[in-house]
Amino acid sequence: MERSVCLSPQEKEQLLSYFETQVMQVLNWLAAFSPDEEGGITRLLYTEGWLETQLALAEKMAGCGLKTEFDHVGNLFGKLQGEDLDAPSIITGSHIDTVVQGGMYDGAYGIAAGLLALDYLQRQFGKPKRTLEIVSLCEEEGSRFPMAYWGSGSIVGKRNFEQIVHLQDSYEVFFADAMQRCGFGEGTGRDSRRSDIGAFIEVHIEQGAVLEKEGIAIGVVDTIAGQRRLKFEVIGEANHAGTTPMHMRRDALEGVSVMIQALRQEAVRIGAPLVATVGRLQVQPNVPNVVPGKVVFTLDARHDDEQALDSFCQWVMKEFTSLAAQRQLAIHGTEWFREEPVPMNDKLKKKMDDVCGKLAISSKRMVSGAGHDAQMFEHLCPTAMLFVPSRSGISHSPEEYTEPRDLAVGVLVLTELLYRLGYEGEEL
Ligand SMILES: [Zn+2]
Repeated sequence: MERSVCLSPQEKEQLLSYFETQVMQVLNWLAAFSPDEEGGITRLLYTEGWLETQLALAEKMAGCGLKTEFDHVGNLFGKLQGEDLDAPSIITGSHIDTVVQGGMYDGAYGIAAGLLALDYLQRQFGKPKRTLEIVSLCEEEGSRFPMAYWGSGSIVGKRNFEQIVHLQDSYEVFFADAMQRCGFGEGTGRDSRRSDIGAFIEVHIEQGAVLEKEGIAIGVVDTIAGQRRLKFEVIGEANHAGTTPMHMRRDALEGVSVMIQALRQEAVRIGAPLVATVGRLQVQPNVPNVVPGKVVFTLDARHDDEQALDSFCQWVMKEFTSLAAQRQLAIHGTEWFREEPVPMNDKLKKKMDDVCGKLAISSKRMVSGAGHDAQMFEHLCPTAMLFVPSRSGISHSPEEYTEPRDLAVGVLVLTELLYRLGYEGEEL
């Protein structure tokens, strides 16, 4: 006989409306911990509000019958012990920190979804065959200190205490001091590194508008896009805006404006999932009556294909150099940040497609243009990620919103997936 968390359309509907109420309850409850004056949520790593949230979550997890534990950087785990003590854990979760004036769904939704899934499975089916865990990762956004993925990176061994020794926040508080004030740091608890994880599954809001536009409920993340960040310096000649004839100018800003247009044209020509953004311009001397002598600007380019990203960046270098030369401008470009694309696990993606199909939930494969904890975990274990729609694609803002029904669908898919892996013992 086929087994599933819901076997009929009626059962599915019941479960969805149950999750709908529950997920909103948990999200509203979490949001109440670190409100900011602008109506958003600001929950930065190792702040009072952050600690309060993690401690309250630990209590909630324990209330759901999970065995809770913090590791030494402040990641919080809730464990539902399985019968097979040797089988590696299946972990789900996301990050508890936010950006400054963030919304109530980014990160928090993945934690709420995991908590509800585990709670439901335990009450309905008891002890699983394989251990299931929920994790509330301490940090992902890099909003307080210049360090992102501190939580997941510490678990997979890509982050360590040496890397944070000199880091300070904008108030010159040292990373280690802030951590210690919350009761974490070297020697305070279990080492973050883990080698007993069988799979990681992250549920997250899309933070883009694709699912909403296409009317699709679930995005199965194919690959987390690779990123390149470059900085360009274009040097011309600052000169008098009144006395320098147009043909005698070496206007750095004019050159850069042509570069930006060429960049856009080429990116549009290549098409999705390539995206390229010039987000910052610093014009010198930046005064109304002087021809701009120098412009420093940034480029952020992303694609799910490493080679395509490389060849785009090579094109950019060549094109910008030639546009600069035509105007007798000097140009220097440097790459200062690079992240390879991270494909999610094939078997888990197929399982997720299959779960959506069986539950009659619309889904599509998609590229994540944003970075996520899942890309860290993929270095350690089979990893998968699923998205639910974001209204108008807005995120990192108090305006962030997802319909409760859409949130519930994500929880249902996660619950079914965890059921198959944890209770049915489906292979990874
Ligand atoms: Zn996030």
